[in-house]
Amino acid sequence: MTATLQTIRGCVLAPDPDHQRVSLLPDALLRIDDAGVIVSVEAASADCDVPNTWPGAVIVPGFVDVHLHFPQTRVIGSASGPLLPWLERSVFPEEQRFADDDYAATVADEFCDALIAQGTTCAAIYSSSHPGATERLFAALARRGLRAATGLTLMDRHGPAALVRSHTDALAASEGLLERWHGYDRGRLQLSMIPRFAISCTPELMQAAGTFAASHDLLIQSHISENLDEIAKTLELFPGQRDYLGVYEAHGCATASTILAHCIHLSDHEWSRFVSRDLAIAHCPDSNFFLGSGAMPLAAALDRGLRVGLGTDVGAGRTFSVRRVAAAAHDAALLHGAPVAPQALLWLATRGGARALGRPQLGCVAPGFEADLAVIDLPALGSSDMDTIIDALLFRHDAGPVRATLVRGRVL
Ligand SMILES: [Zn+2]
Repeated sequence: MTATLQTIRGCVLAPDPDHQRVSLLPDALLRIDDAGVIVSVEAASADCDVPNTWPGAVIVPGFVDVHLHFPQTRVIGSASGPLLPWLERSVFPEEQRFADDDYAATVADEFCDALIAQGTTCAAIYSSSHPGATERLFAALARRGLRAATGLTLMDRHGPAALVRSHTDALAASEGLLERWHGYDRGRLQLSMIPRFAISCTPELMQAAGTFAASHDLLIQSHISENLDEIAKTLELFPGQRDYLGVYEAHGCATASTILAHCIHLSDHEWSRFVSRDLAIAHCPDSNFFLGSGAMPLAAALDRGLRVGLGTDVGAGRTFSVRRVAAAAHDAALLHGAPVAPQALLWLATRGGARALGRPQLGCVAPGFEADLAVIDLPALGSSDMDTIIDALLFRHDAGPVRATLVRGRVL
């Protein structure tokens, strides 16, 4: 089906806007306006003549992937970790191929296919350090109807010569991308500033990224405290800083518009500054397991009231499925002896991600929200209660493919 729908009928799982809860609407009728915004959600009446749009399926808000790397699409599953050797052996050689615009354009289409196939409607994406490849990525996202924040992965040291770029060059390229893509299609696409991580950025580059983001109100994305060797090297490179977060704080890259991935080995003092600065977290447990990095204490982050979303972290993550990442988050939470309810995990995969990315109009199935939806086939279940349905969606890896992915009511 390729269409823009204005009426949808079916079984809906509707996340609460503010709390980590979900409601089941077993037979709902959704109406969507010309702009792709939901105008009403009601129980279908007994004499409703609209047939079920996708019989046997459940409708959820489109998944929000808050952290993944476009130029790592073709190196998913490279078991060359831990983090620093994996970057050298698997990632940097592949990212260099993105100097070729045609290669980037081909992979950008594969990348969009993979997002749509998993019901992901919005993503925070690291491009490569190449302006041409990033342009191709924006063009593919625009054409395919996806929602995203992306930009150059900024690095000016500790990488191959073919990937490092001076901060003046990177900022000039970002100016062009800002003009062409930021706010495209009523804000569907956004430019983001992405200092790769502290190791690969000089203080000058990081400061320039922070200043540029502040002056244009852009999302900042980076990594923090993924791996103990990474932390040690970071503190060696920034001897004036007491801890890893201090590096981002000192260079204008730790604001309420910042999302930091991993957060596995943070100190208590860093956690409390996450709260005071309203920093958002990209929780990437599948990637963390694959590289042997450890497990972030999810329940502790949620107890602190922090904004948390789920990230596939492709290519250290082995899947584009945010549902699979939710299952990994379940396992990671158990390792900490602090389980997180499946309902809360589905909330994080949708509404939590939207809040982490500063997209308040996403992640709910309710009037006033954008009609970004994922439609997932349900396997035969012994019960139709909500917990059974959520468990099946998140934890039965062999069942329930995505039947349709919609942004603003348009089937992608
Ligand atoms: Zn990453």
